[in-house]
Parts: sequence; C-alpha cells; structure tokens
Amino acid sequence: MFLKGKTALITGSTSGIGLAYARGLAAEGANVMINGFGDATEIQGYVEELIRTSNAGALHSGADMTRPDEIRAMVADCTARLGAPDILINNAGIQHVAPVDEFPEDRWDAIIAIILSSAFHTTKAALPSMKEKGWGRVINTGSMHSLVASPYKSAYNAAKHGIAGFTKTIALEVATQGITVNCICPGYVWTSLVENQIPDTMKTRGLTRDQVINDVLLAGQPQKKFVQVEQLAAMALFLCREEASAITGANLSMDGGWTAQ
Ligand code: NAD
Repeated sequence: MFLKGKTALITGSTSGIGLAYARGLAAEGANVMINGFGDATEIQGYVEELIRTSNAGALHSGADMTRPDEIRAMVADCTARLGAPDILINNAGIQHVAPVDEFPEDRWDAIIAIILSSAFHTTKAALPSMKEKGWGRVINTGSMHSLVASPYKSAYNAAKHGIAGFTKTIALEVATQGITVNCICPGYVWTSLVENQIPDTMKTRGLTRDQVINDVLLAGQPQKKFVQVEQLAAMALFLCREEASAITGANLSMDGGWTAQ
C-alpha cells in the first residue's frame, strides 16, 4: 500500500474511468475524494467500498465542474476532511457531436468549462500545498483527441488539445519541486456509456453487435479492442510511484494504436 497517508482528489469519478482511478488509488491505501453526479445511494455505496478497500478515508463531493466557486470549495473541503490533495486527477468530461456551424453555444461553453477550465481551477487551488510538501502528482485525463482530431467534435478536441498544453506548462512551472504533471490519453474505452450505445446503433444502422464494435466504434482503433478502465488506473498508479518521478509534461497514449496512424 504505497499510497498510505496520501490523499487523492479525482474529478468526474462517480463512473467510468474516474471510478477506476479511485478504486486503484484506494487499493494502495490513499484517502480518496470522488466527485461527480449520479444516484445518491449508488455513490454512497462507492464511498463505502473505497473506505473498505483502503482502510482509509473517502468522501464524495457533488461540486459542479462548470462552477469555479464550487471547485474551490471542493478542494477546501477535501483539505479539511481528508487532507490536502497530494494527487489531483482532472478527469471530468462530457461530449457533444455536431458540425461547428450547428454547435450549440451552451454545449461549447460546458465542454470547455468541464474539461479544460475546471483543471485550471483545481490545479490552482491544489498546487500550493503540494509545493509546501515538495511532492505531488497532477494527472489529467486527455484523449487521443488531445493529439489528433475527429470531425464534429470541435469543443471536445479544442478542450482536450488544451489540456495537453496545460499539462506541459504546469509541468515546467513545478519541475524542480517534486511535483509531476502528466496527461493520460486513452483511445476508445469500454465504459457503460459505450456499451449502452450498441443496441441503438445496431437498430438504426441495421448492423450486428460485432459490426457496430469493429466497423463503427473501433473503426479508428487498430487493435480493434477497447481500452479497459483498469489499464488506465494502472497507468495512473504507476505515475504516482517514485519510479515515475522523471515522467513529467508527458501526454501518454493508451489508445490501441489510434495515434500511430
Ligand atoms: P463517464 O461519463 O463515465 O464519466 C464522466 C464523469 O464526469 C462522471 O462521474 C460524471 O458525473 C462527471 N461529470 C460530468 N459533468 C460534470 C460536471 N459538470 N461536474 C462534475 N462532474 C461531472 O465518462 P468516462 O468515459 O469515464 O470519461 C472520463 C474522462 O475520460 C473524460 O474526460 C473523457 O473525455 C475521457 N475519455 C473517455 C474516453 C472513452 O472512450 N470513454 C476516451 C478518451 C477520453
């Protein structure tokens, strides 16, 4: 349990990749504050599971990542009740797909706020105590769309390219202070969000389940396999180890070959 005594704050961790990060960090003994929306009973179940796994603390914050005041309050609450975050994972994200000339303004603003600006607000609030301790890990969830683009995802691609640049900048600013800042860039990941799209796509396009997976969802992913959330959690855990202390400012792909093309 190499993270015993450390505290992690993970945005967007009530499902999918963020929840897997939380489970991975708790399994190594970290106190974990999870964040995000969802069913209150289900979320309480995750908090109890994390406490059982880590034998340490866990809490949920319902802070909305579009609201800077709520973000600052979340970091303060984490500091007061679990300890100042030693590990900050900026993971919250949403998607909207539309041609740019039809892209709804409110979706543009929400995507930029949740994926990009929230990482600025959390990092600004969490860095001072990492600097004081001389140790810290900031891990951002990017995407293959931090490095390459797909059409109709202008806000998402802009925000994810933005988080890649933000990662490099902050890594340079704190390079001598024991703090690393990296961005994990997944390809298509197997989450309930993806799984739930399959029946509808089968119906609307008249395809089999295998055709939807291989020819639609994984068309751009050479391995023709989804990335698993546990694989991403293992990468995040490695970044927290001392052996990873020289990895900083990196955009680390785990994308089944997507960006090799
Ligand atoms: P998900 O929908 O399962 O999780 C998103 C999380 O963000 C949830 O906990 C949700 O409640 C939270 N969230 C959404 N809006 C929020 C807000 N305003 N304030 C606070 N929390 C909010 O999705 P996921 O696939 O696990 O995605 C997690 C991250 O991984 C995102 O940044 C996403 O862009 C990125 N990503 C996902 C994939 C994929 O294929 N699933 C691929 C590359 C990158």
